[in-house]
Amino acid sequence: MTQAYDPGNIFAKILRGEIPSHRVYEDDAVVAFMDVMPQGIGHTLVVPKAPSRNILDADPATFGPLFAVVQKVAVAVKKAFNADGVTLLQFNEPASGQTVYHLHVHVVPRFEGVPLKPHSGQMEKPEVLAENAGKIRAALGS
Ligand code: 5GP
Repeated sequence: MTQAYDPGNIFAKILRGEIPSHRVYEDDAVVAFMDVMPQGIGHTLVVPKAPSRNILDADPATFGPLFAVVQKVAVAVKKAFNADGVTLLQFNEPASGQTVYHLHVHVVPRFEGVPLKPHSGQMEKPEVLAENAGKIRAALGS
């Protein structure tokens, strides 16, 4: 059985501003910030503000605003890093590989011949995340 949403999860803390993140986008319904263990340069997480564990318990009204931002961020990261493509990843419950239980979509720029790094692998340096966030913000703004 699916567990209840836990408001103590790490993304809920980021949304409430209790722990820092490298934000690239925010509107009334959605926030986007850098993944601290990126699977590739520019790996961004797009997170609805509405609480749900994942796609299985989310209000369907969440998906329109969420995927509008996923598209904006996908276009921006492709431009910011001159990528060849963009991979979206989205996990639901532990068996799927989900590790943080607040709905989110991974947006990862891709380059011909370059494999994804492991999921939840190595921590990136804050200064690198800050620099990459700046590039994405610039691409979103233009
Ligand atoms: P999931 O496995 O739930 O789909 O993905 C969770 C993602 O959150 C992983 O890619 C992981 O690297 C990332 N992550 C885990 N803790 C933090 C954190 O404290 N801050 C940020 N920005 N990302 C995190």
